[in-house]
Amino acid sequence: MIDKLLNEREVKHLQPLLKGCRNVVLTCHVRPDGDAVGSTLGLLHLLQSMGIKARVITPDQPPRSLEFLPGFSDIVPYARYSDYGSRLVDEADLIIGCDFNQLSRLSDLEPAIASAKAKKVIIDHHEHPDVAADLLISYPDMSSTCELVFRLIAAMGYFEFVSFESATCLCTGIITDTRNLSVNCQHLDIYEIMLELLRMGVNKSLILKETMDTKSEDALKLTSFALCERLTVYKNHHAAVVWLGKEDLSRYKYEKGDTEGLVNQALELRGVIYAVFMREDEDMVKLSMRSIGDFAVNRICIDHFDGGGHLQAAGGQFKGSVQECLKKLESVMPEYDDEVRKAADRLIAQGYVLK
Ligand code: 5GP
Ligand code: MN
Repeated sequence: MIDKLLNEREVKHLQPLLKGCRNVVLTCHVRPDGDAVGSTLGLLHLLQSMGIKARVITPDQPPRSLEFLPGFSDIVPYARYSDYGSRLVDEADLIIGCDFNQLSRLSDLEPAIASAKAKKVIIDHHEHPDVAADLLISYPDMSSTCELVFRLIAAMGYFEFVSFESATCLCTGIITDTRNLSVNCQHLDIYEIMLELLRMGVNKSLILKETMDTKSEDALKLTSFALCERLTVYKNHHAAVVWLGKEDLSRYKYEKGDTEGLVNQALELRGVIYAVFMREDEDMVKLSMRSIGDFAVNRICIDHFDGGGHLQAAGGQFKGSVQECLKKLESVMPEYDDEVRKAADRLIAQGYVLK
């Protein structure tokens, strides 16, 4: 059942690539999330069980919320260890890129991967993939790259190589990308996959606690401050925006990952169909968007913020201050009013109470 959705030709192409390689580099998108790190580490443990040497290189440092994952401490963040990372890429005979649809998502790691002589495989679930690779395995209807990796493992008949460590990593990507199986679960057999992973001994409570329910004191205060002081509800647009400026971030000693989940809190507001979070980083504003129903928040990111992502979860960036970014968003919001109203009507028809 689980392996039925995949294209057999792709599976037949992947199998010899894995069997024939000796030295693999696994990589994923910048500012990696649970799915990006879960899929690369999940594959790392699988390959190691098969006796294949493998390393995970991330463009930058993954967040502390993923520190509990087996193999986390062996990850090579390229931003910090670029010489070592480049050497590993040079020595690899196979590169597997997970959870991204454009090479630009690799940030400063892009040139090294683009020019590498190794064979390249991309395994991803974002729409409109645009990456040159020897094998591109793209399924935008999958909840997560981890779901796709699990199905590939099943289709290749490699279950015997799935260790507890690998299962834990794959389960983490499924849980974080679906917000604990509440969004993006197009295929019901995601529950079968979860059952298999839990049977392998995966500790779901641990994954939930570490990835979604743990914060430092400063981070908790920062997100509380943001909701009290930096949240605006745009009733006419069914939208909510929350933002944090540079000063706010330094006041609460911001660290990577501290604002994770904030955009979802804004989305909790009754009547809100989409929520936007803006964070003013050193050289740009990073945007994070979430929606309910079928309102395509990735459209706003693609159209106006040099970004992309999924229908209900997308991101982008803006060159300028957070105030300028807010102005720009406010100026483009009316473009989406029709779509957002239609999405609201469809939700009401399904029984959601929006007022
Ligand atoms: P997040 O809001 O958690 O950073 O990202 C949500 C989703 O949008 C993820 O699937 C992520 O890959 C995608 N995403 C976030 N930022 C960008 C971006 O700048 N460009 C593109 N293409 N996708 C992004
Ligand atoms: Mn993903």
